[in-house]
Amino acid sequence: MARETIKVDPGFSKTVEGLTRLNLDACFQCRKCTNGCPVTFAMDIYPDQVIRLVLLGQKDRVLKCSTIWLCSACETCTTRCPNEVDIAATMDALKEMAAREGVQIPQPKTYAFHRAFLEDIKRRGRMFEGRLMQSYLLNSGELFRKLADGTIKEEISLGLNMFKKGRLPLLPKGIKDKKEIGEILR
Ligand code: SF4
Ligand code: SF4
Repeated sequence: MARETIKVDPGFSKTVEGLTRLNLDACFQCRKCTNGCPVTFAMDIYPDQVIRLVLLGQKDRVLKCSTIWLCSACETCTTRCPNEVDIAATMDALKEMAAREGVQIPQPKTYAFHRAFLEDIKRRGRMFEGRLMQSYLLNSGELFRKLADGTIKEEISLGLNMFKKGRLPLLPKGIKDKKEIGEILR
């Protein structure tokens, strides 16, 4: 049987720690993060394993996994960790790293939503639901699929219902200190 070669990047954990300003070494693998995570049923690597693999320098494995894109940023893991390891923030940093390094993202629709959301926040300082959905549908290719199979009607009907209930404004609202949000995201 052919053996898989494991690539190790010895500086990987320090790079992640540099981005997040967190100390991942504090993790002692108790798995409290994983045991509380509501999305583990769909993950290919559990949250505690992501932290372990980062510490072991297994950059390729971590940046290519589905887990970082399936994480819903609910922060349950971060709250449960007895050592104050911010797993949710680590997942975010890994997402950005994967995107910057041009890794093939296993969850392209989630990635399209992630980009649409962040670009909106960067532009206005807050989300504008109308543009977010437009941008997501276009960038994910879902618009053409939905037009072809007719399911676009469901989106239109959902949009109309949200509009009637005042949940879908026609114009975006701004915020004070938009520059600060840009700085935080940078
Ligand atoms: S809860 Fe914290 S210490 Fe325990 S495995 Fe998860 S990251 Fe490590
Ligand atoms: S932040 Fe992500 S990894 Fe942590 S519990 Fe929530 S979904 Fe799971």
